[in-house]
Amino acid sequence: MDTQMLIGSTFEKGTETEEAILNPRTGETILSLPEASPAQIEAAVAAAQKAFVTWSKTTPAQRSGYLLKIADRIEAEAEGFARLEALNCGKPINAVLNDEIPAIVDCYRFFAGAVRSMPGLVAGEYLPGHTSMIRRDPVGIVASIAPWNYPLMMMAWKLAPAIAGGNTVVFKPSEQTPLTALKLARILADVLPEGVVNVVLGRGESVGNTLINHAAVSMISITGDVATGKKVLQAAAKSVKRTHLELGGKAPVIVFDDADIDAVVGGLRAFGYYNAGQDCTAACRIYAGKKVYDKLVADLSSAVSTIRFGQADDTENEIGPLISRRQRDRVASFVERASELKHIEITTGGKQGEGGGFYYQPTVVAGALQEDEIVRREVFGPVVSVTRFSDVDEAVNWANDSDYGLASSVWTKDISRGMSTAARLQYGCTWINTHFMLTNEMPHGGLKQSGYGKDMSVYALEDYTAVRHVMIAHG
Ligand code: NAD
Repeated sequence: MDTQMLIGSTFEKGTETEEAILNPRTGETILSLPEASPAQIEAAVAAAQKAFVTWSKTTPAQRSGYLLKIADRIEAEAEGFARLEALNCGKPINAVLNDEIPAIVDCYRFFAGAVRSMPGLVAGEYLPGHTSMIRRDPVGIVASIAPWNYPLMMMAWKLAPAIAGGNTVVFKPSEQTPLTALKLARILADVLPEGVVNVVLGRGESVGNTLINHAAVSMISITGDVATGKKVLQAAAKSVKRTHLELGGKAPVIVFDDADIDAVVGGLRAFGYYNAGQDCTAACRIYAGKKVYDKLVADLSSAVSTIRFGQADDTENEIGPLISRRQRDRVASFVERASELKHIEITTGGKQGEGGGFYYQPTVVAGALQEDEIVRREVFGPVVSVTRFSDVDEAVNWANDSDYGLASSVWTKDISRGMSTAARLQYGCTWINTHFMLTNEMPHGGLKQSGYGKDMSVYALEDYTAVRHVMIAHG
C-alpha cells in the first residue's frame, strides 16, 4: 500500500498529527497516516510553481498525451484501485470496478480530447484597423481539495481539467480517504513532469487551511460541505483567488400522477441509495402526486427493503456502510428526530445495521412535510423522504424552496409537462424520467448554496482557464 505524499518528484511521509484510516465495513483501523508539515506544504506549492513555468507552455496536444497515459495506467490497474477504494470507503467492489473506474478513466480521456478543440469567439476586426483574438490561458497553481464520498473520481474531476488547461496542482484528498490518491500519485510521478501534480495529506483545518490561504495559490477548487465552501470564500477574498465550489445537495424528485410508477420505484431504489446515499445528487426528497402517493410509498418501501448490504461476500452487496461512525450517528439522529413527529411514518429501515461496521438500513420516511428537517437538510445517508403534493405549482415551489440547487428530477409520461416543469426548477441539473446519470461531456454543478463551478464537460475547462483578449493595431 502506498503511504507517501508526492512533493515535486519525491515521495515522503508527513511529519505531523497521525490520522487513523478506517475500514467502514468493520470499523477497524487500516493504518495511520501523518499529515503534512507547513514546510512540506510549502515545498509542494514551490514544486507546483516551478513546474508551472514549463507546463503552462506545453501544447494542448502534449498535455492530451499525458492525460491519455494517466487514463491507460488507471485502466491497467483498475482492480487494484477498485480494491483500495472499496477498502477505504466501504463501497461494494463491483460498484467501484464497474461504475466508478470506467467513468474516471473516461474523464481523463474526455479532457485529453476537449483541450485540443476548445471553442471560442472568432478573431476579427471588431474595431477598424485592429484585430482582436481571444486566448484561454492557465490560471496558475490550483489548490484542489476533495471529499470522501468518491475519492478517486473527485480527484479525476479536479485534476483532469486543471492540468489539461495548463495549470499545476497541489491536491489534498479527504483525511478519511487518502489511499487511492496515494496510489495514483505513483502513476502521476511516472507519467507527468516533476511538480505538475503534488499530493499532500492532512485535515481541513490544518493542511487545507494553509493551502487555501497560500499567497502563491491562484485558484481553489473544493468539493465539500457548504460550511467549508464559505471558509474557502473567506480565504479567497483576502487575495482575490478564483474559486470553484461544489457543495452539498438535497435533490427533489417530482413524481406526477401519470408517471410510470414501476420505473419511478426502480429509479429511486437505485438513485436514492447508491453509495449509501452519500451523494450530493441522491434522489432523496420525493414529492408525489396525491393519486400515486400511497402506491409509491408502498412499492418503494417494499423495494427498498430488498436492497442488499452487509453481506460477507461483497460481490452480493448493492450498497456499503456510511463512511464513519460519526456520519452513521448523524444519519440515525435525523431519522430519530423525524420519527418523533406524529405525521411521519418510517415505512422501512430506520435502524443502524449490526456488527462493527458503520451500516444504516436503507430507510423510507413517509408523510414528511415541507417544513420538516428531514425534507430541508442534507442527510447524506440511505434515507429518502416522501411528501404528498396537490398541484404542479405546489410541487415546483416546494422543490425550489431549498438552500441547495444541484440536482433534481421530474417523472411523468407527458413530455410537455416534463419540459415545462424542468424549465421552472432552479437546479444545475434536471433529469426527466431518470436521475443521477452523468456523462463526462455534460456539466455537473450547482446553483445557490450548492456552489458554482462546473465539473466535467468543456465548461470545466473554461472554469480552469482564464479568458484573455489580445488586440493588434495594424498601424
Ligand atoms: P468537508 O467539507 O468536511 O470536507 C471536504 C474537504 O474539505 C476535505 O478534504 C476536508 O479536509 C477539506 N476541508 C475541511 N475544512 C477545510 C478548511 N477549513 N479549509 C480547507 N479545507 C477544508 O466535506 P466532506 O464531509 O468530506 O464531504 C461531504 C460533503 O461534500 C457533503 O456536504 C456533500 O454534499 C458534498 N459533496 C458535494 C459534491 C458536489 O459535486 N456538489 C460532491 C461530493 C460531495
